[in-house]
Parts: sequence; C-alpha cells; structure tokens
Amino acid sequence: MNQPSEAGSTVSVSQMACNNISSAVTPPATGTRQRWNVTGMSKTASNNSSLMLRCAASAPKALRAVGKMRYFHAPDQPRESPMTDQYAVIGRPLGHSKSPMIHADFARETGQDLTYVAIEAPDGGFAATVERFRAEGGRGINVTLPFKLDAAAYATELSDRARLAGAVNCMKFDGARAVAENYDGLGLVNDIERNLGFPIAGRRVLLLGAGGAARGVLLPFLERGPEVLVIANRSVAKATALREQFAMRGNLVAGDYADVADQCFDIVVNATSMSLRGELPPVTARNFAAGCLAYDLVYGKGLTPFLRLARDAGAERVVDGIGMLVEQAAEAFEWWRGVRPQTQALIERLSVPLT
Ligand code: NDP
Repeated sequence: MNQPSEAGSTVSVSQMACNNISSAVTPPATGTRQRWNVTGMSKTASNNSSLMLRCAASAPKALRAVGKMRYFHAPDQPRESPMTDQYAVIGRPLGHSKSPMIHADFARETGQDLTYVAIEAPDGGFAATVERFRAEGGRGINVTLPFKLDAAAYATELSDRARLAGAVNCMKFDGARAVAENYDGLGLVNDIERNLGFPIAGRRVLLLGAGGAARGVLLPFLERGPEVLVIANRSVAKATALREQFAMRGNLVAGDYADVADQCFDIVVNATSMSLRGELPPVTARNFAAGCLAYDLVYGKGLTPFLRLARDAGAERVVDGIGMLVEQAAEAFEWWRGVRPQTQALIERLSVPLT
C-alpha cells in the first residue's frame, strides 16, 4: 500500500505493536479462562516500531471523509511493498475495534505481508466505501455494525452461512466477485468446542435473543448436533420466525422467557445486547444445569449480571465473547490467506478478568 504521508499526519506507535502487547497487559486473576487486561494501547511509542498507525491526511477521500483511518502493518515485513495486500474492517463506530490489532498479530505470527485498516463509513455509504477500497486494491473486508445487512446486499455470492444468517461479517474480492461469509457463529462454536473443550453434540442449548448475532450462530450450532436448541426472545415472533427458517437443520424450539423458566440447559448463550448496558436477561437460576457452560457474547465487560447469575447458580464455566471474536477473525484470516493463525495466546492477552 503506497500511501504517501503528509508532514504531521503519520504517527508511529511502537509499544502498541504486536510484539509489545505483552508489555501493556496486566496478568489475570484466577478464572475459568486466563484473563488479561490490555491497557494503554494508543499511548506509548518507541523508535523500533514494527507496527504503524497512521492518521493519513493523504488517505482516499472517502476514508478521510469519515474521519478515522487506522493503518496497521504486519511487523517485520517491508512496509511499503507494492505487493502488500490490503484488508479492512468497515463499520461505525470503530473507535474501540480490536480487529486491526488481531489481524496484525495474525500477520506477524504467520509471516503474511498485509495491511489492515479500520474504516468508518457514513450512513448509506457502505457500498461507496467498499468500492473505493477495492479501487485502491483492497482484497477483503470484515464488516461490523451497522453494515452487516448492507454487505449481504452488496455481495455477488453468499455462503450458506451468510445467506441463512441474512448478514455478512466477512468478504473477499476477486475481480468483479464479492464473495460473502459469516464467521460469527463458527467463531463461537470453535471457541466453545476447541478452546473450552465443551462439545455441543447431544447437549441441551438455550440461546437468549433473536437478533443479528443469534441468527449468525444458529446454523453452526445446529450443525454440531445438539439434543435441542431453544431460542428464547422478548419478541417471540422473531424467535418463531427463526425456528421456521432453520427447522430443517435440527431440533429447534422457540418461545419467550417464561416458556423456559423451569427448564435447565447444558449450554446457555446470551446473544441479547443486555450485558452491554449491565442488564440481566430474564433467565432464572434453574436454567443452568449443574456443570453447564454460560457464554455471554459481550466481551470486555467483566462478570456481567448474566455471568454472575450463572456462576452463582453453579455453572462450571462462565465465559465472555472475546474468544468468539478472535476465532471468527481467525476463520476470516485463513479464508483470505490460506494459513491458520494461532488464537489461544491472543485470546488470553485480550481477555479481561471476570470479577
Ligand atoms: P441486536 O440488536 O441485533 O439484537 C439484540 C437482542 O437483544 C434481541 O434479541 C433483543 O430482543 C434483545 N434485547 C435487547 N434489549 C432487551 C431487553 N431489555 N429485554 C429483553 N431482550 C432484549 O444485537 P446483536 O444480535 O447484533 O448483538 C447481540 C450481542 O452480541 C451484543 O452485545 C454484541 O456486542 C454481541 N456480539 C458479540 C460478538 C463477538 O464476536 N463476541 C459478535 C456479534 C455480536 P428483541 O428482539 O425482543 O428486541
């Protein structure tokens, strides 16, 4: 990516570089998964930067217009090689997006020569922003709120997962083709099964919520063969619609929270947005079977009311969504680059204590 910089527009931030993340973390307290506190990511700098952050005044106009462009480069690679492939996450807001750091870490670990920027697109500006990025040589993007549906509409090809979810979180560009995927659900089941060692097959699963994230996780969950998957949602019609759409894929039940109040489950996934506001979804202590896994898709919030209730109810594992985030990124990275990055150490570095 040959992007000329103007005086004062480029900032090196070396101690936030991948190989320096460890210097900005505090070690975990005890917990079911090691939790680390990452701080000071944009505050420190040295002269040995292997990772660059640029506030590029010379960035393409569409990118400048949205005010934020973050440019991360894989360390230890030639920085301005014309061969460097470009990737991005597109959403809004992206001020706290971890994706550039995650992909920079993957690139360093696997020796891939790529850049990964965060691009905030304006309302109604998703397609135009992507077009500009592609015209500049962009090879692929992650997509986050509020553009996951826009991405589905923009794509020329949708995977089964993306089509059924009705939402896209990852795209790959190949000439005129814009191929779309949704790796959110696969990231979640990979975290549950591979990282946490909790098989889904034969288990009773309760999924709280029927929004975008819930839609995205349904197919990968059902493909693992749970005994039953129950969707509970405040707006029952949304849960029922999902049941009708996915019924052929497995044993799926839908209802409201009162319907499941007395039932217990082996895996309870909070896919509502309530933890973002520190609110407890309408679950009961009875919902958590002895030895169950409670998984909150929200991350970085510590012990949410949902996880606290689960822990107090005797859940064996209480986990937040940072593993899902890193695992979906790993799926995207492998799809783009053909090489699988390690995830475990990064999950541990990005995790916060659940206290
Ligand atoms: P949506 O806005 O699409 O869905 C929100 C869901 O929460 C709906 O089911 C909604 O119910 C429910 N809800 C919200 N408020 C209440 C309430 N007061 N009482 C009962 N139910 C409520 O959000 P998403 O699906 O996109 O995201 C859900 C969560 O998942 C977010 O916290 C997000 O941060 C997280 N997430 C994490 C990811 C990761 O990688 N770890 C990836 C994607 C999302 P109703 O339908 O009745 O309105």
